Amino acid sequence: MENTTYEYNKTLLGTTVSLTLLEPNETVAKIVFKTISMLEDKLTVNRQLSEVMSVNLAAGKHPVIVSQVVFSLIEQAYKVSLIPNNCFNLAIGPLVKLWKIGFKGHQVPNDEQIKQQLLLTKPEDIELNSAIQSVFLKKEGMEIDLGAIAKGYIADITKIILCKHNIHQAIINLGGNVLTIGQSLLSEDGYWHVGLRKPFSFNNELVGIFNVNNKSVVTSGIYERFFIQNNRLYHHIFNPTTGYPLDNELESVTIISNTSLEGDIYSTILYGLGIERSKKFLQKHQNISAIFLLKNKTIALVNHENISFKLLDKQYLISYY
Ligand code: AMP
Ligand code: MG
Repeated sequence: MENTTYEYNKTLLGTTVSLTLLEPNETVAKIVFKTISMLEDKLTVNRQLSEVMSVNLAAGKHPVIVSQVVFSLIEQAYKVSLIPNNCFNLAIGPLVKLWKIGFKGHQVPNDEQIKQQLLLTKPEDIELNSAIQSVFLKKEGMEIDLGAIAKGYIADITKIILCKHNIHQAIINLGGNVLTIGQSLLSEDGYWHVGLRKPFSFNNELVGIFNVNNKSVVTSGIYERFFIQNNRLYHHIFNPTTGYPLDNELESVTIISNTSLEGDIYSTILYGLGIERSKKFLQKHQNISAIFLLKNKTIALVNHENISFKLLDKQYLISYY
């Protein structure tokens, strides 16, 4: 049994991106990191210059033609945003920029500021023209934010690159957004062992560990970006109706799915739905499994693929669905 891995790391997407291979391949690692960096340059809204920022800066003025790779992601995020009764909204940018959660200068804005920004977060005010791949934000001040979906999209593209280079066994980790490719040669059972992080733990403690093959594992949680003020925790996933961070019983949602794009979309959506509505949703989505960590230290595991989960932290209690 092979037991050596080769890990390549680079700071990208505001996090550490790591690629684990079973054979050394510096050339492929460089190609992967270069592609991720190129995509980040196009999609970021944390710098003044990017394709998405050029769309945002032209809000209320004119449409902007973007590249195919950017248009495709915006179009998918737009369609998800129009699904009724879900929190996912690609036009959330003005609120993200107002609260600045996870960035320097974070604040609790006043109600008037939130009300004003809410007027600029309607996905219906986005106009897409697929014939020429243009995007128009109809009101000045509108901003697209792809933070809830971009890493998933990028992880899937990375997988395609690895396959093109004949690499069929690997793990790509975009700061907790994990895509396992093929079977692991590291364990007898052929599974990759993925750890589930304990919320708010500073030394990377794990709540549990589970086995997957050829699956994406994406987590949305309140402990990724947050600040505390007057004993209240404000985290980075917003309720697009109230303009405040979503407030429910969950600390995190981990989605296990085939593609990382769907993992990223559903981790955000199910976080917003809360546990009961998520369970109903998952009854209709048998190809997705999910692990919910609740604030009351229970774990709800909706396990459609019989994923074996090993509990490491005895503070938690598991229920299976
Ligand atoms: P995730 O960790 O995938 O759930 O995405 C969180 C990120 O998505 C935030 O840091 C924001 O950039 C963005 N975001 C926040 N609230 C929403 C929302 N309601 N819909 C879509 N994107 C959001
Ligand atoms: Mg997401």
